[in-house]
Amino acid sequence: MAIIVQKFGGTSVGSPSRIEKVAEQIIATKNQGHSLVVVVSAMAGDTNRLVELASQIDKNPSPRELDMLLASGEQVTIALLAMALIKRGYSAISLLAHQIGLLTDNRFNKARIKHIDTNRIYGELQRGHIVIVAGFQGMDSEGNVTTLGRGGSDTSAVAIASAIRAKECQIFTDVDGVYTTDPRIDERAKKLDYITFEEMLELASAGAKVLQSRSVEFAGQNKMPLRVLSSFTDGTTDGTQICYEGEVDKQHPVTAIACQTDEVLFTLEATEHIAQLRTRVFNDLAEHAVEVDMISHHLSEQANDLNFTINRKDMVMTDNLCKDLLIDKAISRYQCLKSLSKVSVIGNGMRSHSGVAADVFSTLQENDIDIHLVSTAEIKLSVLVASDDGEKTVRLLMTKFNLNN
Ligand code: ADP
Ligand code: ASP
Ligand code: MG
Repeated sequence: MAIIVQKFGGTSVGSPSRIEKVAEQIIATKNQGHSLVVVVSAMAGDTNRLVELASQIDKNPSPRELDMLLASGEQVTIALLAMALIKRGYSAISLLAHQIGLLTDNRFNKARIKHIDTNRIYGELQRGHIVIVAGFQGMDSEGNVTTLGRGGSDTSAVAIASAIRAKECQIFTDVDGVYTTDPRIDERAKKLDYITFEEMLELASAGAKVLQSRSVEFAGQNKMPLRVLSSFTDGTTDGTQICYEGEVDKQHPVTAIACQTDEVLFTLEATEHIAQLRTRVFNDLAEHAVEVDMISHHLSEQANDLNFTINRKDMVMTDNLCKDLLIDKAISRYQCLKSLSKVSVIGNGMRSHSGVAADVFSTLQENDIDIHLVSTAEIKLSVLVASDDGEKTVRLLMTKFNLNN
């Protein structure tokens, strides 16, 4: 009997009636003869509500206590879903992450999964239970509650599926698959039947919220069959399959476009040798767990400025580090530009097609959109634009690269 892992996101379990609906869907899979582990997020809006509640007590709350608070959202939904299944005559058991030995490191708010003890899950499955696990949360080696970063239930699901060697991990959400861009930004976006693992990884790390990027990393490491589906459409589509072999579409250079908001650009002017400054800045940022996104640095005798972007949530920390650099006279001045968005075009076809950069730059120039920074990778090109231009840039590039329905 195959084990299937199904994950239901916040909107899928956003109300008691939605939870009842999800219970029906789970029962349909169970009745096909599968063993089922179900990973659930908090009800839509609940995690945001908890973050807001914390900020009313402290704008910069203790990371440990924040995780203790945020993890509570998922405890609510697992219990309600188990109740809905039991009411329908199915045996189900809800479990918190620590009850399945889901061990993480101790980086509160962005912990990484290190190990999952599969005994408890296997035992419950053998007893015939549908196992309902709280997503997003874990436990460090000292028994503290941790969380996996926003959107982390996707990662819980893929990690559990990999640990118990499930046949498939199905991510149920409020869209019926991965689209050529976020359908909320461009309603003309097309659903993709397949997307390669590499493209999905780039798309997720470029800001497409549909899967947390670490979940895609996990899936890739374990070649876990992964599918994104809607919990709102009663199996009318097969969703989007993440595939590990072969190039799905070599015809088009671009497969999808992502938009990451809340980017902040720092520009530092060095007084000392730029190489020394570069080492110090990126060491300092790493020590404080600030994730740097784009970096631009011109290697020449004359150049003495260093540009990089970070997420808005790390702005205060980065600003403080820059102030220290000023005090130490390592830089003569620095500038911080807020309200930026990063638009990324992604596609395996970019390996064999040239001219994507030219198309992006000409489209933006024709529409008077300024580019603050550019970065490229093998199958991705990103441009940093003003937030006000972000969605417009996506729509223009969707048309340019024929990604509409
Ligand atoms: P869940 O609560 O189920 O985890 P999320 O809100 O985290 O759902 O992710 C689903 C959302 O991701 C969609 O509603 C959509 O707005 C957004 N999204 C961003 N990029 C894409 C994309 N390329 N394809 C589909 N959805 C996307
Ligand atoms: N509830 C968490 C969040 O809102 C985790 C998740 O939904 O994946 O980020
Ligand atoms: Mg999500």
